[in-house]
Amino acid sequence: MEKDNIAGENESVNNFVYDIIREDVSKGGRFYGKTVHTRFPPEPNGYLHIGHAKAICVDFGAAKRFKGICNLRMDDTNPSKEDEEYVKAIKEDVKWLGFDWDDRFYYASEYFDEMYGYAVGLIKKGLAYVCDLTPQQMKENRGDLTHPAVSPRRDRSIEESLDLFERMKNGEFEDGSLTLRAKIDLSSGNFNMRDPVIYRISNSAHHRTGTKWHIYPMYDFAHPIEDALEGITHSLCTLEFEDHRPLYEWVINNIECENKPRQIEFARLGINYTVMSKRKLKRLVDEKIVSGWDDPRMPTISGLRRRGYTPSSIRTFCEKIGVSKVISTVDYGFLEHCIREELNLTAKRAMVVLDPIKLIVTNYPEGKTEELEVENNPNDVSAGTRRVVFSREIYIESSDFEESPRKGYFRFYPGNEVRLKSAYIVRCTGCKKDENGKVTEVYAEYDPLTRGGNTHDGRKVKGTVQWVDVKSAQDVEIRLYDRLFVDSDPEHSDKDFIDCINPNSIKVLKNCKAESGLKDAKGRYQFMRIGYFCVDKPDENNTSVVFNRIVSLKDSFIKK
Ligand code: ATP
Ligand code: MG
Repeated sequence: MEKDNIAGENESVNNFVYDIIREDVSKGGRFYGKTVHTRFPPEPNGYLHIGHAKAICVDFGAAKRFKGICNLRMDDTNPSKEDEEYVKAIKEDVKWLGFDWDDRFYYASEYFDEMYGYAVGLIKKGLAYVCDLTPQQMKENRGDLTHPAVSPRRDRSIEESLDLFERMKNGEFEDGSLTLRAKIDLSSGNFNMRDPVIYRISNSAHHRTGTKWHIYPMYDFAHPIEDALEGITHSLCTLEFEDHRPLYEWVINNIECENKPRQIEFARLGINYTVMSKRKLKRLVDEKIVSGWDDPRMPTISGLRRRGYTPSSIRTFCEKIGVSKVISTVDYGFLEHCIREELNLTAKRAMVVLDPIKLIVTNYPEGKTEELEVENNPNDVSAGTRRVVFSREIYIESSDFEESPRKGYFRFYPGNEVRLKSAYIVRCTGCKKDENGKVTEVYAEYDPLTRGGNTHDGRKVKGTVQWVDVKSAQDVEIRLYDRLFVDSDPEHSDKDFIDCINPNSIKVLKNCKAESGLKDAKGRYQFMRIGYFCVDKPDENNTSVVFNRIVSLKDSFIKK
C-alpha cells in the first residue's frame, strides 16, 4: 500500500521552477499553448544516487504537474566512459521510483550527425573556427578579469576551418591536437563565453557509434542541441550550470532550430555522512569497500532499494526538501525520518530476538502449546492479526534480563513482573549461570489470568518485551547498518574520502530467532522494539532468511 504522492501530483507543492513554468505557459508567455516538455539526462557512467532522485522528481514531477511529458536521455557524448550495464540500471531505477518516459528514450549520440551539421553551419557563418592551441596553451591564454583571452587562430578563414574540421572528423589528427571553438567574446566577464571549445578530437571508440567519429561535441554545445531537437521546453539542471546558461542560449540562438528551450537551474542535493559523486561511488565499488553499487549502505537508488526504502519514501523526501537556488546539505537523518514515518503506518509487526536467551516459564505445563492472537499493525486495524505460538520455553533478548538491575530498569530481574507482548504477564524468579557466571537461562512464572497480556486486577506492569517460542522459532540472519562514513563531509575532508570510512558500518548477526511466520517473509516489517527491516537475498551457501535493518525505531542516527 503505497501513498500516491509522486512529486508533481501534489497540488499544494510549489517552487520557483513551477512559478517560471506557469508563467511561460500562461497567455503571453514564451511557451503559451505548448506542452511542457522536460528531460532527465544522466550520463551512463555509474548508477543513479539519491541526488539524481531529486533531479528525477524535479524533471518528471514538473512535467506531471503541468500535464506535460518528460524524456529519459542518456547523455553519452563522452566516448570512453559509458557502459550498457549503467544504461540498464538507470532505466530500472527511474521506473522503480515511479516515473515513466513511455517511448521517449534517447541517446545523445543519436544526434551526432545533427550536431556536426550545426557546427559546420556555425563555421560557415563565421561563428566557429578551428584552433590549434593545446589544452595547456589554451589555459595560459585564457586571460583574466582585466585581460582578454588570446586566440591566435581566431581569424582563420572559413574555408580553412571547414577543411580542417572535416579532416578532424575523418581521423587525420591526434587526440587533443585541434579543437573547434565558438567565436563569441574573448573579453567576456564570463569565461565560458571566451571562445569556448565546442568539439574536441578523440580517437577512442564510442559504446554506440563505434569508430564512426573521431570528434566529439563538448557538453555545453551538445546539451542545448539535444534539448532543441527533442522539443524540450524547460531544461532543468543543477546550479553549477548557471554560468553556462549564456552559452546555452548562444548555441540555441545561433543554430537553425525552431524550438528554443529554456534552462533553469536549481541547487543540487547534498547529504551529510555520505559521498554523492558517481566517480567516488565507483571507487567504493571498484576497491571492494562495499559489495557493489546496490550495497545497502550506498546512497544509490539501487542501494536504498535493497536496504528497504520504498519509492514513495524517496519521493516524499525529495518533495519535502524542496527545490530552490540555495545550496544546502540535508541531514541523513531526514531521509531516515521519511521512511520511518511511512513504515510506521504500513509495516507489519513481527517479533524477533537478536541476541537470544532462553526463558523458562516453570509453572506452564510441559508439552502444552497455544496460539495467541497478535495485531499486525496497531496503526492499521485493516492489517488484521496473526497467530503466534506460545509454550513453556521462549527466547527473550539477553539484554532484557539483569540479575542486579540498575535504577529505572523495568524488564526481567528476580521478583519483577513483565508483560510478554500479547501473551502473559510473568514474574521473574531467577536464572541459571555457567561456570563463568554468564546467565544461560532465565526462569519465570506466568499468571494464567493475564492471557493476551492484560491485567485483571489493575496492577501496573511497566515493561513489555517481545519473545519467540523456542520450538517453532525460525533462524534468521540480521544485518545492522550504520552510516558509511564517520566524517560528516567526507568529500571535503583533509583526508582522502576513503580514509573517512566507518569501519563498523555493517554488523551481521547470525543467531537471531524470529516468530515462525517469518520463514516466508516478504517485504518490510517492524521488528518490535528493534526497528524496521526488509528481506534481503542471502549470501551464497546460506539458506537462512536474511533481513536488512532499514532504519532504527527512533532517531538515534544524528549526533548533534
Ligand atoms: P555525478 O557528480 O554524481 O556524476 P553528474 O551531475 O555528473 O553527477 P549526471 O549523470 O550528469 O551526473 O546527472 C544527471 C542529472 O542529474 C543532471 O541534470 C544533474 O544536474 C542531476 N544531478 C546530479 N547530481 C545531483 C544532485 N546531487 N542533486 C540534484 N541533481 C543532481
Ligand atoms: Mg555529469
